[in-house]
Amino acid sequence: MAPSFVTRFAPSPTGRLHRGHAFSALTAYRAARAANGRFLLRIEDIDATRCRPEYEAAIFEDLAWLGLQWETPVRRQSEHLADYRAALERLAQGGLVYRCFRTRKEILAEIGHAPHGAMEAFRGGPLPADEEARRLAAGEPFAWRLSLAAAEARLGGFSRLTFLEEGEGPNGEAGTIAARPELGGDVVLARKDVGVAYHLAVVVDDALQGITHVVRGQDLFEAAHVQRLLQALLGLPSPVYRHHRLLVGPDGRRYAKRDRAETLAELRARGVGPAELRRELGFD
Ligand code: GLU
Repeated sequence: MAPSFVTRFAPSPTGRLHRGHAFSALTAYRAARAANGRFLLRIEDIDATRCRPEYEAAIFEDLAWLGLQWETPVRRQSEHLADYRAALERLAQGGLVYRCFRTRKEILAEIGHAPHGAMEAFRGGPLPADEEARRLAAGEPFAWRLSLAAAEARLGGFSRLTFLEEGEGPNGEAGTIAARPELGGDVVLARKDVGVAYHLAVVVDDALQGITHVVRGQDLFEAAHVQRLLQALLGLPSPVYRHHRLLVGPDGRRYAKRDRAETLAELRARGVGPAELRRELGFD
């Protein structure tokens, strides 16, 4: 019988882990333990320009220090690009994706302004065939975007598309949630530079790894709407979601790499022990 609870922690090795990561990893880990389930670690390193092997090594070190144990081998996304290409190919055969040659500048010019999230909510559609042929012939790089219009036609609308939220979205959303993939626009499924992108890799991996419960921060709640659609289009099962609150610092702001949040390594260096940190985060 397949285990009824399989979850994962899926960090990107683009920097050192901080308290926010520790909180997320412990939440997933404890959920797996409580359910007598499995806890997997996945390294989301498709962005070769930002990921570094030393950050990956530090992730293992930090999580072991926190007291976590995970199954091996660890899935490293950069080693599975063929899986993502195969999924993209299936979507392409179904006419569900299109080539996007536009640069960031062109997109911003088209939508006129750049409110937060505008790039993500972009729905440009494919270029006219002759223009596309011209750009292809000129060897211009292109991304692949999901066509929401084609997806909507395929599924006969999104009204039957739901996912189960056992945690809570940022506005208290819980229970059976009607997916609104249009929030994300025609998301990029394969970036110009690395040939794959976050949503596609996550959906493929969650299915391949038999993830039954996605435990992660509320900052990714909107991603679940997009990911639910990709699951439907690829015929993959939809895991249960448990989005958790985001940890905030003494200043009331969430911990973030860009704000130079204190890293677990720094915390360790000044003598904080794992039990002390677990207690601070409310786990022991
Ligand atoms: N790699 C993503 C991140 O670090 C997490 C992906 C996920 O949990 O779905 O934010």
